Amino acid sequence: MVKKFYDKDCDFSQLDGKTISIIGYGSQGHAHALNLKDSGASVITGLRKGSANWPKAESAGLRVMEVEDAAEAGDIVMMLVPDEYGARVYNSQVAGHMKEGDVLMFAHGFNIHYNQIEPASCLDVVMVAPKGPGHTVRSQYLEGKGVPSLLAVHQDRSGKAREYGLAYAAGIGAGRAGILETTFKEETETDLFGEQAVLCGGVTELMKAGFETLVEAGYEPEMAYFECVHEMKLIIDLVNSGGFEMMRHSVSNTAEYGDYVSGRKVIGKCAREAMKQILSDIQDGTFASEFIQEFGAGGQARFSASRRKEASHQLATVGSELRKMMSWLK
Ligand code: NAD
Ligand code: MG
Repeated sequence: MVKKFYDKDCDFSQLDGKTISIIGYGSQGHAHALNLKDSGASVITGLRKGSANWPKAESAGLRVMEVEDAAEAGDIVMMLVPDEYGARVYNSQVAGHMKEGDVLMFAHGFNIHYNQIEPASCLDVVMVAPKGPGHTVRSQYLEGKGVPSLLAVHQDRSGKAREYGLAYAAGIGAGRAGILETTFKEETETDLFGEQAVLCGGVTELMKAGFETLVEAGYEPEMAYFECVHEMKLIIDLVNSGGFEMMRHSVSNTAEYGDYVSGRKVIGKCAREAMKQILSDIQDGTFASEFIQEFGAGGQARFSASRRKEASHQLATVGSELRKMMSWLK
């Protein structure tokens, strides 16, 4: 069983006298910086000069510095820039300012696990990864609650790396919900697998295949969109709050029976074999090197082409018209 920690297991005083520099002020960055500040920690936000986020962070009451200065001033440096820029930012603007005993933190293991960042051995290297988007990390904190987070230690120079991670996690509110201990390897590989095989890749292709099957059979695209795309949320909300059980309890017996007999035909042997292959490409680094190549020398050509192709699919155009009919959607 995974180890779980709560506020009572976290010693927030581990952060006394320490300055925490948060690099980046996006989804996670703004939430970590503001929650830690409200928890009483000394926080600096590190940004590029001229960043549109600079005045935003300042008007939220944060001290803002350029990335290099923030890294220099920080005893704990949390990297919250997009993962594809993480290595560039760390190697050119942060690494040179990290001193013996400093703690380097991440909210995702990719750059450490795939050796894109190789921190000096005199540092602690820790992950605190909320299992939710930044705006939820912030809004839950303001409500006196928190978002469950993962904790992992990659390098423990001080012998206190885990203590620092727990204190930081408590500072962003995670100790109110629960902190689960994992490793950089496990977090990175399961995160990539989940988003590719199930959450992003799996689900969108499943919806698209259902949509195309109905449209090719002569049904109206609007009907196909409602049935195979729009209603996904209704079902997932039920799964999210009460598991498969609650979802199956809420739908009709016809739907529940169809679920049992047809689901395993769609996700059969072939889909399961594909999942194993996807996992193996993640484990042996094949996916990571492809991704790094695409966002480096590849100039994002394949990435941009996929974006364009998906945006011009009939599913996208029909969906955008139908959503206009639903005033409650933003
Ligand atoms: P984001 O894209 O929302 O924000 C990134 C921030 O970095 C922005 O403020 C941007 O201006 C800044 N930035 C970009 N390039 C920079 C540079 N060269 N120098 C300095 N700042 C730069 O990213 P995010 O979603 O907050 O992700 C940050 C980290 O958190 C990633 O490691 C991600 O995997 C992890 N994470 C994200 C989520 C999520 O739901 N968004 C959840 C858990 C973990
Ligand atoms: Mg420093």
